[in-house]
Amino acid sequence: MKKVVIIGSGLAGSIVAYYLGQQVEITILTKGTRGDSNSMLAQGGIAAVLSPKDKKESHIRDTLIAGEFHNSRIAVNFLVENGPEVIKDLIHSGLIFDRDESGNLSFGLEGAHSFSRIVHSGGDRTGKNVTEFVQNKLSSKIKWIESAMAVSWKVNNNKVTGLSYLDSEENIQMIDADIFVLASGGVGQLFNLTTNDKTVTGDGLAMTIRAEGKLTDLEFLQFHPTLLSVENKIPPILISEAVRGAGAVLISGRGDKIMIGRHPKENLAPRDVVSRVVNEYIKKGDKVYLDISMVKNFETRFPFISDYLLSINVPFQVTKKIPIQPGMHFLMGGIKTTLKGETSLKNLYAVGEVACTGVHGANRLASNSLLEILAFGRSVAHSILKESLDRKNKRENLDTLIEQINPKEIPFNLPEREILIQKVSNSLGIVRKRSEVCEFIQWLKRYQFEFLPEKISKENLETANLCLVSEKIALAILKRKISLGAHYIIQEENELQ
Ligand SMILES: Cc1cc2nc3c(=O)[nH]c(=O)nc-3n(C[C@H](O)[C@H](O)[C@H](O)COP(=O)(O)OP(=O)(O)OC[C@H]3O[C@@H](n4cnc5c(N)ncnc54)[C@H](O)[C@@H]3O)c2cc1C
Repeated sequence: MKKVVIIGSGLAGSIVAYYLGQQVEITILTKGTRGDSNSMLAQGGIAAVLSPKDKKESHIRDTLIAGEFHNSRIAVNFLVENGPEVIKDLIHSGLIFDRDESGNLSFGLEGAHSFSRIVHSGGDRTGKNVTEFVQNKLSSKIKWIESAMAVSWKVNNNKVTGLSYLDSEENIQMIDADIFVLASGGVGQLFNLTTNDKTVTGDGLAMTIRAEGKLTDLEFLQFHPTLLSVENKIPPILISEAVRGAGAVLISGRGDKIMIGRHPKENLAPRDVVSRVVNEYIKKGDKVYLDISMVKNFETRFPFISDYLLSINVPFQVTKKIPIQPGMHFLMGGIKTTLKGETSLKNLYAVGEVACTGVHGANRLASNSLLEILAFGRSVAHSILKESLDRKNKRENLDTLIEQINPKEIPFNLPEREILIQKVSNSLGIVRKRSEVCEFIQWLKRYQFEFLPEKISKENLETANLCLVSEKIALAILKRKISLGAHYIIQEENELQ
């Protein structure tokens, strides 16, 4: 039986396992528990043309406009065509989405969509509901390896034949398979303010960089405009865009509506536009709030956010205001993949946020990410099932597995994680300057993180991965001299001459 190893237990890894079914032997290896992922945190919902009044052309157009036409049109067509089919399939299998009084699917509106097309499950608990539903449907024959951190690929002649990982005791282990599916998510933890889960540290990207796999579009990072802003190191959770979709308005500390005159869609402008405006106010020392006085039944529509605000004593029920700030949210670029999820390395598929299918272009349209996972996750599984096993290239000798681990005692020397994150946040954030990006690259040159030592802790491995990925992001930023979508670069005086 074909052996498939999936790395990551978010929706991407889980949906591939779901569609692979029982025709292959599956192992899911994940860094924390199976519940640790960005997927479990997704609030707004899934964008899909499911209403008879909506049109696929409209969803395609909205996606392309948000992505500044940097998207792959073929991938966008594939997304809009296939995503709704998978949603219907999951509904058929028992997944419950929220419905109105007449029993029809209830559709929310989010930024830059020209139609209310966001389906949700359990209000703002969509990600948790959908991910758990899929995981609960998985076969009991699947082998789960939790608290296991993938370290590096074994590559022979451009083929991935094995994987090393750190087990819960931080001992290195090896695993072989016919096919590997990378679903390890994005890079949120590179920044000091992020919506992302603590396990999301760019590991899969770093592993693939070390194995010389092809990555693309790394300069396109999406910053979400509305993370909760409270003192005392309380995690800055996301205040979903669906809150603005339901009528909330961004206001300054003085009560001015800050999006007026900044974009025709005002509060529902694309995220990069809103993030820059909010950033501008905060950089001036002002505060920014979401005025929720126009949102009816806030507590019932947004139960997760309401419970959280109450638990940390934010008096939103009285003030009708939620203090916010922008933060790192989503990586549009990643490992370059085909519509089937194939990467430039044979036997390696990538899916979800770690992959770049070309769907999002320079800026992701709200709630298109979960849809992408469903559409492309099913496609990856079907492709694996169809692919005939290349027996000649079957499992390699595992004795030589740790190839990217430094055999020649090349120095390994890391910066302090906090300093790295501060530097990344200052130089690779919402507004970029070439001089600051160059300075960051120079600073990083003091350290050695490309080759890994034979023995390494999870903490150091994460830091090394963050260094490597941030270096590639910085280089991608320098290559794109003109602003586009979420990549916003200020022309400095010496560049204008
Ligand atoms: C707060 C929040 C709200 C969001 N809301 C929405 C929304 O409403 N709609 C929408 O479409 N999108 C939303 N998004 C984006 C969307 O949720 C993510 O892009 C998507 O869930 C990513 O899924 P994934 O499976 O690719 O990655 P993840 O869900 O992040 O899963 C990655 C998995 O890989 C594991 N992993 C990481 N590194 C390793 C390693 N080295 N070894 C082993 N395992 C590893 C992680 O622990 C995790 O289990 C939101 C994101 C956040 C953070």
